[in-house]
Amino acid sequence: MSQALPLPPVVRSVAALRAQLAEWRRAGDDIALVPTMGYLHQGHMALVRYGKATCRRVCATLFVNPAQFAPTEDFQTYPRDEAGDRAKLAQAGCDLLYAPTTEEMYPEGFATRITVTGVAEGLCGAFRPQMFGGVATVVTKLLNQASPDVAVFGEKDYQQLLVIRRFVRDLDLPVRIDGAPTVREPSGLAMSSRNAYLSAEQRAQAPELFAALTAAAESLARGGGPVEAVLGAARQRIVAAGFASVDYVELRDAETLATIDRVVRPARLLAAARIGPARLIDNVAVVPPAAV
Ligand code: AMP
Repeated sequence: MSQALPLPPVVRSVAALRAQLAEWRRAGDDIALVPTMGYLHQGHMALVRYGKATCRRVCATLFVNPAQFAPTEDFQTYPRDEAGDRAKLAQAGCDLLYAPTTEEMYPEGFATRITVTGVAEGLCGAFRPQMFGGVATVVTKLLNQASPDVAVFGEKDYQQLLVIRRFVRDLDLPVRIDGAPTVREPSGLAMSSRNAYLSAEQRAQAPELFAALTAAAESLARGGGPVEAVLGAARQRIVAAGFASVDYVELRDAETLATIDRVVRPARLLAAARIGPARLIDNVAVVPPAAV
């Protein structure tokens, strides 16, 4: 039987966070930060394990960030389970959980917002105009609060990862940003806290999002085309599977997210689609035909 590991201590204020991290730093330990909105699954756990393999100490953060939700979105109903999250974090070797209150993050009078252009525009930026400004603001705060050596984010949120890399570079934040691969259910469905919104029927339909992206990526890697026809077939397949609508299926440059109509460098297929009460996102790599 696997032994229960000690629960990571929880701190809720910037002062308590800094006190603990300063103690570790004095002892010569390096620190990885893993920001999350909680309701943790194996995808989050992989980031924590990655952090632990990279640095001596891992601090996970749990904060459902109101600044990245539009008033019509699911901030109020976003699933929350701090006790369950803490138990999972213990199993992944997490050393500290930072779960600040909203007042700690956004005290009375808070008036600053980080805006990222370029890579934050289009794709999810077009459908959720609130989101990346909110993400950039909260991640900048978390990085300043913890001053980690490394911060770990999932490729599942590919555009978000590139947005974070962009403002970290632009603002000269002294931290390394590492991306970790998407963790999937055996069906191929990317793990997501929002999968909890799906009914049994929708959960059976949802893996078609990944299947459609994988088929399109394979076609493009074989030199199939034209690109718009391949993307159109993927959109049709997603709707045929039972998704109510497709926000986008797009082919972009893997580094800049620039729109492309040919794959000559590493590219990425990205998609967002709505099923029942959930909006699911996913993405896959596309290898240039010559490199296959
Ligand atoms: P969230 O709690 O959804 O805001 O996600 C917190 C972090 O976990 C982000 O860096 C996400 O990209 C990452 N993440 C979420 N789902 C997965 C997954 N299935 N595989 C890998 N990383 C993930």
